[in-house]
Formats: sequence, structure tokens, C-alpha cells
Amino acid sequence: MNKRPIALVAHDARKDDMVKWSRNNAETLKGFDVYATGTTGGRIEEGTGLPVTRLLSGPLGGDAQLGAMIAENRLAALFFFIDPLSALPHDVDVKSLLRLAILYNTPLAINQASADAILANLSNEG
Ligand code: PGA
Repeated sequence: MNKRPIALVAHDARKDDMVKWSRNNAETLKGFDVYATGTTGGRIEEGTGLPVTRLLSGPLGGDAQLGAMIAENRLAALFFFIDPLSALPHDVDVKSLLRLAILYNTPLAINQASADAILANLSNEG
């Protein structure tokens, strides 16, 4: 059976948390086809050994690539650890990606607690 595609993205200040979360959930994540923006993906591969399809870096088009996947119904869930404390120069990309996730009713996790809940739910759906 094809693995369902999910995407992991973390802003710089949240990358350590994303790697830690991915490591804690590595066994479950193996059951999914994992996509990530460039730098986040590199960190996850390094930190967990999971295979990751790396898109462009978020600010260089990776966020837009994920938005397109959502619009084409090619993403089962988005795990997007957003930095809540700094203004981001590519805020328009962040807004666009969030807007598409809302528009297409894509499960969206923005922190560890929601990521735990959504991953548990996706795994139960099997
Ligand atoms: P990055 O992009 O994984 O390439 O750092 C994340 C982002 O959208 O800022």
C-alpha cells in the first residue's frame, strides 16, 4: 500500500523541537511518506535517519511547493512548527501556506501537542 504523504516544516528557532519530536516519533513516521522543506528536511534526516523528500528551502519556494501539494490534494497533513517570537521576512509564504491548509481543510499541527494529536489520529486511520 502507498504510504500517505505528510510534510514537516520548522522555522529556525523551532528546528531543534522538530528534530526531537521526529526522533520521538520515528517509528510511526516510518509509515508515512515524509516531505519537508530543505533545511528542516536535512536536520530531520541527520537527526533520525528517516528518509525525507526534501523540497526547496521554505523562503526560497519550499513553502509554496507545499501549498501547491495541498491545493492538489497531495498532502494528508502538515506539521508546521512556527516561530512565535520573531517576525519572519518571508511571512507572506507562511500566511499563504496556512491559508491553503485552512481552505482545503488539511490537518495542521503548529506545535508539539497538536502534532502528537494529529499523528496519533493519522496512525489510527491506518
Ligand atoms: P527551511 O524552511 O526548512 O528550508 O528552513 C522552513 C521555513 O519555511 O522557514
